[in-house]
Amino acid sequence: MMIMERIVNWARLKSPWILHFNSGACNACDIEIVAALTPRYDLERFGILLKGTPRHADILLCSGPVTLQIEDRLIRIYEQMAEPKFVVAVGTCACSGGVFQGCYNVLSGIDKAIPVSAYIPGCPASPKAIIDGVVKLLASLEEKGEKEARVVENE
Ligand code: SF4
Repeated sequence: MMIMERIVNWARLKSPWILHFNSGACNACDIEIVAALTPRYDLERFGILLKGTPRHADILLCSGPVTLQIEDRLIRIYEQMAEPKFVVAVGTCACSGGVFQGCYNVLSGIDKAIPVSAYIPGCPASPKAIIDGVVKLLASLEEKGEKEARVVENE
C-alpha cells in the first residue's frame, strides 16, 4: 500500500463521515440515531460526523426495511458514495425487514438492495448499541487495513 493511501485510510478511520437514511423506518430508530449524535452519547468523540450528502460520506447508516417505493433511491444514494464505502443496518427492520417483513410494499432488509458491512439489531436499536456497532466496524476495518499493509510490505 502506498504511503499516501495509508494516510488517507488512517484519516478516514479516525474521522469517518456518515449519512443517515430512513428507507422505511417507523422513525424510532431514527430518533435513536439522532440521540447517539447528541452530546449525551456523543458519537462525535470518535471523530464521526454527520453529513448531508452521499458524496461526502464514508458510512451509510440505514434505518427501517426497504420499501418498494424507496428501493431505487437507496441504490442511487449508495452509488453516489465514493469508494471505499460501508453500510450499517440500524435496527431489526434494517437487518431483516423486522415487523414489516412480508408486507405487500416492502422488499426486506437493507442487504436485499445494497451490500451491508454491519448489522445492529434492536427495536429500536439503542444509542449505545449504535455506537458500539459503528466503533466495532471501524476497528475491524483498521485491522483489515493493517493486515493488507503487512502483506504488501512482505512482498
Ligand atoms: S426496528 Fe423497530 S423501531 Fe426500528 S424501524 Fe423497525 S419497528 Fe421501528
